[in-house]
Amino acid sequence: MAASDLPPLDDTEAARLRADFPILETRIGDAQLVYLDSGATSQKPECVWEAEQHFYETANAAVHRGAHTLAVEATDRFEDARAAVAGFVGAGERDIVWTANATEALNLIAYSFLNASLGAGGPEAQPFRLGPGDEIVATGMEHHANLIPWQELAARTGATFRWIPLTPDARLDLEAAATIVNAKTRILAFTHVSNVLGTVNDPAPLVALAQSVGAFTVLDACQSAPHLPLNLRGLDVDFAAFSGHKMLGPTGIGALYGRAELLDAMPPFLYGGSMITTVSMEKAEYLPAPPRFEAGTQKIAQAVGLAAAVGYLSEVGMDRVQAWEETLGERMLTGLASIPGVRILGPAADSGVRRTGTVPFEVQGVHPHDVGQFLDSRGVAVRVGHHCAEPLHRFLGVTASTRASAYLYNTTSDVDALLQAVADVRGFFG
Ligand code: PLP
Repeated sequence: MAASDLPPLDDTEAARLRADFPILETRIGDAQLVYLDSGATSQKPECVWEAEQHFYETANAAVHRGAHTLAVEATDRFEDARAAVAGFVGAGERDIVWTANATEALNLIAYSFLNASLGAGGPEAQPFRLGPGDEIVATGMEHHANLIPWQELAARTGATFRWIPLTPDARLDLEAAATIVNAKTRILAFTHVSNVLGTVNDPAPLVALAQSVGAFTVLDACQSAPHLPLNLRGLDVDFAAFSGHKMLGPTGIGALYGRAELLDAMPPFLYGGSMITTVSMEKAEYLPAPPRFEAGTQKIAQAVGLAAAVGYLSEVGMDRVQAWEETLGERMLTGLASIPGVRILGPAADSGVRRTGTVPFEVQGVHPHDVGQFLDSRGVAVRVGHHCAEPLHRFLGVTASTRASAYLYNTTSDVDALLQAVADVRGFFG
C-alpha cells in the first residue's frame, strides 16, 4: 500500500515502529529511556546498519575506479543511494553532492564562492565572485553552521554581512526582509525549520525576494528533510544542505543540494583524486558535479545506509511523519505551557505558527543543565544549552534553554513522561 493510502500515524503505529529501533529499549537506571533529542541526532532503525553491513559483506570496494566486479557493484550501490536520496528530497541525481554533514555542505558553498572570489574558475565562475559592495544576508534564527560560514565569507571577500531580524514573537520579520534584501544582495541564506524553535519558515516569500534581485538562495534543510515532505526543485532554491544522522541515517554523511548547472560552474572546494578529468604538472581540469565536489575516497557505506533510511521514511510516508510530530508537538506545547513556572520560548501554542515536534522552554529559577540532568534521572533525554544558536538565544533573552524534540518513533506517553518530569523540576530544586 502506498504511504499516502495509510491511516495517520498514532500511538499504536508509533509503538510498532519503535520495534525497529532497538536502542529505544534502553533503560536509564530504573527508568525506561524516553528519547526526545532527535533534533540533535535521530535514532536509527535496524535496516540502516544492516544495509551498511550488507554493503561491507558483499560489495566493498573503492567507487568510480577499477574495472573489477566489486568496484562496479560498489559504484552502482553508491550511485543508487544518490538517486534514492535525491528522489527523497525532490532533486535530480546530479544535484546531490555527498558531504560529511550539513555543516560541511554549507561550508562547501561558502568556500566555493571564496575560491571564485580569489580568482579560481574561468569566466563561468563570474556569478560566484564577491567583493566590496556585495551583500550576504542570513537571518537571526540560524544555527551557527548557516551563520559563521557567511560571516567569514563576507570578511574574507570584503562583502557586507547582514541579517533579517525577528519579530517580537521570534518569527522571521518579512517586512524587514524586504528592505534588507536589495540589489546588492548576492546570497540569501535561511533555515527551513528552526532547530531551536521548531517553527517552519515558508521559503516562498524569501525565494521570491532573492530572485527579484538576482541573489542566490541557500536553504538549511537540516531540520526539514527529516520531518516534512521536501521538494527542493519545487521550492526553487539554488542550494540546500542536510545531514543524514538527523533523518535516521548514519553519522558521517550529509548532502549538498545545488542545481547541477550551478554546481558545474562553481570552483571546487577540495582538490585531489576522483574529481579531475586531466592533470599535468602545471594544472588540472575538473569533472562536472557531483564528482567535482567529491575529492578523495567517499562515504560509500554511509551513503548506502542513508538510502536505507530514506527508504524507511518513504515507506512510513513523510506526510504522516509530519502530522504525527505536529500532534506530539502540540501536546508538548500545551502541556508545558500549563506547568507553573515554565515558559515556552518562541511563538505561543495558540500562535498558529506551523511547527515540527520541537519545543524549547525554560523552567524559571532552574538552570537548563540542571533541568536536563533531572529529566535524565527520569529517563527523559533532551538537549540543553544554546543548541548552536547563540544569537537566537540572546534575542530570546536567555543564555540557554531546554529543548525537547520528537520524531516518528515517539508516543504520547513519551510526551506525558516529559511533562510529568518537567512538572516535578521546581519541586526538586526547591
Ligand atoms: N543546521 C541546523 C538547522 C541544524 O539543526 C544543525 C544541527 O543541529 C546543523 C545545521 C548542523 O548539522 P551537522 O552538525 O549535522 O552538520
